[in-house]
Amino acid sequence: MAKQEIPYKIYLEEKEMPTSWYNVRADMKTKPAPLLNPGTLKPCTAEELSHVFCDELVQQELNNTDRLIEIPEEIRNFYKMYRPSPLVRAYFLEKKLGTPAHIYYKFEGNNTSGSHKLNSAIAQAYYAKKQGLKGVTTETGAGQWGTALSMSCSYFDLDCIVYMVKCSYEQKPFRREVIRTYGAKAIPSPSMDTEVGRKINAEFPGTTGSLGCAISEAVEHAVSHEGYRYVLGSVLSQVLLHQSVIGQETQIALNKYGIEPDIIIGCAGGGSNLGGLISPFMGEKLRGEKDYQFIAVEPASCPSLTRGKYLYDFCDTGKVCPMAKMYTLGSGFIPSANHAGGLRYHGMSSILSELYDEGLMEARAVEQTEVFKAAELFARVEGILPAPESSHAIKVAIDEALKCKETGKAKTIVFGLTGTGYFDLKAYEAFNDGKMSDYIPTDADLKKGFDGIPQFPGNEH
Ligand SMILES: *Cc1c(COP(=O)(O)O)cnc(C)c1O
Repeated sequence: MAKQEIPYKIYLEEKEMPTSWYNVRADMKTKPAPLLNPGTLKPCTAEELSHVFCDELVQQELNNTDRLIEIPEEIRNFYKMYRPSPLVRAYFLEKKLGTPAHIYYKFEGNNTSGSHKLNSAIAQAYYAKKQGLKGVTTETGAGQWGTALSMSCSYFDLDCIVYMVKCSYEQKPFRREVIRTYGAKAIPSPSMDTEVGRKINAEFPGTTGSLGCAISEAVEHAVSHEGYRYVLGSVLSQVLLHQSVIGQETQIALNKYGIEPDIIIGCAGGGSNLGGLISPFMGEKLRGEKDYQFIAVEPASCPSLTRGKYLYDFCDTGKVCPMAKMYTLGSGFIPSANHAGGLRYHGMSSILSELYDEGLMEARAVEQTEVFKAAELFARVEGILPAPESSHAIKVAIDEALKCKETGKAKTIVFGLTGTGYFDLKAYEAFNDGKMSDYIPTDADLKKGFDGIPQFPGNEH
């Protein structure tokens, strides 16, 4: 029988879409460390978490045992509006690189939010609605999460308040307007609306904000308003769970053609797209069924995995959230104005941190000018203008494909193309004008962040 041609795009039919989320924690021998109450230093109970988060999402956050969690029908139907997302064979990129490698990318940018964030936003809005809440608050960095959440809240008729990192609010007015078009309120952070915002503004006059600071403001807003809860677009285990649709679809598509990936690559901000992409494959690795090489790619300007410490830390600058054990640069670390706004978080998902610590996943840090070179090359041959965040994965996929060219080994590489870069044209402008610079924090810069990590028995540093 003739060898089956691999199409440019592998689509799934609606009936082939996953009906459950896959919870990789069920297959982990060492579970990610629990969230801690900073007051008592004991694991947060469901009751404590329910003041901040929606009840059903608290259950998902604490669920280390159920391998599959059914996706409610209403969410599955919403997914059908923009999913399944295509798995694309990057034939043009392979040809351009002259590599024997086979490269595939899972493209999550085909929806108005322009990223994978909608996969979790719609789930979180659904559970908030089901609980009878009035609305939700959140933070957004580059604006993708705020956009995705505003779309989801408008679908379920929920109030939506988005604290947007000030530099993005100013640099990215277009995403702000998408958020407003969906009826949500966008507030530049640090603002003067919250106690923590006022404090940070006083301490660091003129600060352009950070994700950690916007989180503190959003949490404060939620707990001080009746009928509101806080929702988060990354980092938390529930978010990785929802994002597992990315990995499951990828796996189903690859299986259709009997394709076995060797390397799976994703950019890592808080870890949700990477966690979602690799989860089902990691499950096979954890169960001893298959082996894959997983690579997390982060900016050299915010190197949580490659240079951070694996400790309990605050998830936010204002220290109002529970503490998580993760690779962290310290909640006070404010990265330089790297253009990949979605990768500027000081910490990393506890799940990915544990997998990385056990050596089950690798990490690489890359500089932004190199990332934009890769983005430009990709845009020119594959036609899609990639988000700066996604371009971190492109950069390492290209590096790996070029290694294959040197060694003559035809590996199969899969990477996550998390979104489009139409709202990041200021960054492309800086690159095109030759005005983009690389800023790598010195050890002394990092030490300032590390010094702010809490010290307590078992968490000495
Ligand atoms: C938010 C975002 C990321 C990074 O977030 P993760 O939680 O690490 O996935 C990457 N790419 C895009 C396009 C994003 O919007």
